[in-house]
Amino acid sequence: MIQRSSALTAGAMTRAGQRSLREHNLSLVFSHVREAALDDPPSRADIADTTGLTKATVSSLVGTLIDAGLVVEGDPISSQRAGRPAIPLRLAESTVAALGLEVNVDFLGLRAIDISGRVLTESIARENLRGSEPEAVLGSLVHRVAHEVKALDRAGVRLVGASLALPGIADHPAGPLRLAPNLGWRDVDVRAVLASALKGLDHSAASARTLLHTLLVENLTTDNEANLAARVEIDAHKGSSFIYVSGEVGIGAAIVVDGRVFSGLHGWAGEIGHVAVDPAGPLCACGSAGCLEMYAGKRSLMEAAGLGDRSDVADLVSALTRGNKRAVGAVEAAADALGVALANCMNLVDVNCVVLGGDFAPLCDALAPGLMKQLSSRVLASRWVGSELSVRASTAGSYPAITGGAMAALDPIMANPASLVWG
Ligand SMILES: [Zn+2]
Repeated sequence: MIQRSSALTAGAMTRAGQRSLREHNLSLVFSHVREAALDDPPSRADIADTTGLTKATVSSLVGTLIDAGLVVEGDPISSQRAGRPAIPLRLAESTVAALGLEVNVDFLGLRAIDISGRVLTESIARENLRGSEPEAVLGSLVHRVAHEVKALDRAGVRLVGASLALPGIADHPAGPLRLAPNLGWRDVDVRAVLASALKGLDHSAASARTLLHTLLVENLTTDNEANLAARVEIDAHKGSSFIYVSGEVGIGAAIVVDGRVFSGLHGWAGEIGHVAVDPAGPLCACGSAGCLEMYAGKRSLMEAAGLGDRSDVADLVSALTRGNKRAVGAVEAAADALGVALANCMNLVDVNCVVLGGDFAPLCDALAPGLMKQLSSRVLASRWVGSELSVRASTAGSYPAITGGAMAALDPIMANPASLVWG
């Protein structure tokens, strides 16, 4: 539903200035196209009615957005009203996009998503990156990005940003990566490594080199993978509060309050995988002992279920469906450990809904009973929050952090299209 928001009045114009007035109104008009339901796209007249802007102003701003490749006109719709049929306005497809990139412990991922939310291209390379060298992995990422950027450029897509998801603590917005225990990476200046890899790239067109440098060095943002994955849930459940838990080889979390990620002073919050479940437990890659990852991380879970190193979550789901006792026991133990860790977090932050993402999403039905049992008994406020205390599976799909990363990289344009239109 569109919030009614007001245009700046002529009286305010002198304060805001001509340019900022135009920028403000451009954002306003764009927000009405952006936030409209897919089956109810607005016309110029609808936008004028809602914003209070004149029809001439709306028409001029819509024309600017169309010229910039941000908005397109649909087929005219006849209405009961007199006059010409209304022309619906929608977000343009395949014109303006951003890249979501991810380095995780068992894959390298890339996805380009346009402003309408369409995936234009994706590339997922599954490989074991435990104990890898940052230069080699990021060099490989640069090659993949260069290949895709070239294809998108040929297709006339304008790339406006890129975001890199990492499985560890990374300074937001621009790095460095402090620690990714499962990769074995420590103090990596990601953008400097990418810049150096770009120099070694054999690329004939100077314009392509400049674009890659802008995307991967100057404007690249970095963040923890769970924070970026949570971005997709935030978009689907606007204004909600939850703890997003990302189950991969490592386990990350994002604390979301009123639709915003609380990421701590440096962007390092959410390291739930290294919350101690049993201080006397097995040694973790982080150097501590008994961390949650040692009980509910993908490798620990697969091993406890009697599945091999190369197995994935689908194998575990099918073992559960067959009623395999070892698999059932492994998931129950993981649910207990996850419940203990999450109850500790909830007691601290007063957020009562858990969203299970990554490999935990398809396991949600199996994990939820044990998890809820722990939460109900350990979260002090459980008796007062009622049905707020809940566990649900993320609907963000596979590799949500690269989707969330691309969305985050599009945010500045979505909020302020003038930066694209007028520079
Ligand atoms: Zn640990």
